[in-house]
Amino acid sequence: MRTAVVVGAGVGGLAAAGALARSNWHVTLLERGDRLRGNGAALLIWPNGVAALQALGLSLGDIAFPMVAGGIRRPDGRWLVQADVAPLDGAPADGAQPLPTAGGGPSYQAGPHQQSVVVHADDLHDALMAGLGEKIEIRTGVEVTTVRAGTAERPAVGTGKHTFEADLIVAADGSRSAIRRRLAPQSAVTSAGYTSWRAVIPWYRAPKLAETVPAAGELLGAGHRFLHAALGGRGTSGGSTRGGIYWVATAPGAVRPEALATQLTLLRRWFADWQAPVGELLEATEPEDLVQQAGEELRPLPRRFSFPVGAGGFVLLGDAAHVATPTLTQGACLAFEDAATLRSLLRDARPGETLPLALDEYTLARRERVARVAKTSRRLGLVMQARGRLTVRARDTWLERVSPRLLDRAAASAHQWTPPP
Ligand SMILES: Cc1cc2nc3c(=O)[nH]c(=O)nc-3n(C[C@H](O)[C@H](O)[C@H](O)COP(=O)(O)OP(=O)(O)OC[C@H]3O[C@@H](n4cnc5c(N)ncnc54)[C@H](O)[C@@H]3O)c2cc1C
Repeated sequence: MRTAVVVGAGVGGLAAAGALARSNWHVTLLERGDRLRGNGAALLIWPNGVAALQALGLSLGDIAFPMVAGGIRRPDGRWLVQADVAPLDGAPADGAQPLPTAGGGPSYQAGPHQQSVVVHADDLHDALMAGLGEKIEIRTGVEVTTVRAGTAERPAVGTGKHTFEADLIVAADGSRSAIRRRLAPQSAVTSAGYTSWRAVIPWYRAPKLAETVPAAGELLGAGHRFLHAALGGRGTSGGSTRGGIYWVATAPGAVRPEALATQLTLLRRWFADWQAPVGELLEATEPEDLVQQAGEELRPLPRRFSFPVGAGGFVLLGDAAHVATPTLTQGACLAFEDAATLRSLLRDARPGETLPLALDEYTLARRERVARVAKTSRRLGLVMQARGRLTVRARDTWLERVSPRLLDRAAASAHQWTPPP
């Protein structure tokens, strides 16, 4: 039987491990954490991510909530881009709803099959775990530190104590991937100059907001942003027990070393005086709700995402292969695209025969696509995270007058992706 070792049980590794197991690979999943779990925040899954999950045979069912229309406002509440902005040429004539701005400006559904959703990260994790099936061997508390990629040898990774050999090794070990550092040492994670905080406030302690407050949307200040979206409605959380209000805040600078309670105090100070629901949501947030993460990017992208070795080889997947700034919130969606592509290319691949060729095709199928999305996200980030007074004024004028179509186009180019057969 064909064998694969998947390193890392984040969303990318779980999606890939399940897909390979369903294609009759014997899969061993290695995770350095002591158990498999989500990070407690939420994720926006855009049409390309939904399409990739469908191609993987995974359905989010009632844990995924449709995104509702939002818009972009200034901290004082003045609209920069209203949610009911006129659709661009080619916008759907089939009554599709505009999407919220969270994660990259206004956008429009391209058809009923291309719904965008918001899902609690822990629910998504559970759904991906359910997709692993029974046959996968899962090893937690295993940190990969060594990589064996000599051409005459079988691909292997190790911990110092144990070696794990396989026909295929999938590096899904995140942005600091030990495997990428060995195979593509020229690529390094660089700071985008800001840090993000995320939280889901469960419905039972979510604030009751005035009806005039948009249910989702984005507020843009100087170097600071605040996005919010609802996971279902109060008391109508579908199959999830984890519904609530999701928010993301960004601020210039590096990650804060202080205790979570102090970070929350800082957030409340930075966003004091911002229009509702910002203050209300920060007030209802508890320190342990917070997930802090640096805005980062992997540059340059590895020249290859696959490395044929002997009869098989290595592939990089998800953040191990490509970290885009979080402006377009596409990282997990791209990881699902990677997994769906891998599944399609490896379905019938045989070690020593067609597998090395299939690995080459993986790089061809993924690298250009990912580079395009990363570039768009970087450029959009420069606009959205603008700081100087004059730059911010120019940005806001631009947003009010011209940008909806351009923003929409930027987001739509990321959303358009067709899974391989
Ligand atoms: C603020 C913010 C908001 C975002 N919002 C969205 C969004 O709305 N939608 C979206 O699509 N994307 C979003 N993203 C991006 C998304 O979170 C990531 O791209 C995605 O989680 C990457 O998944 P992954 O499985 O590749 O990596 P990870 O989630 O980092 O998983 C890597 C796993 O590998 C394990 N590991 C690491 N090293 C080793 C080792 N040496 N040995 C064994 N195990 C190891 C880790 O413990 C971890 O479990 C956002 C990112 C940020 C920063």
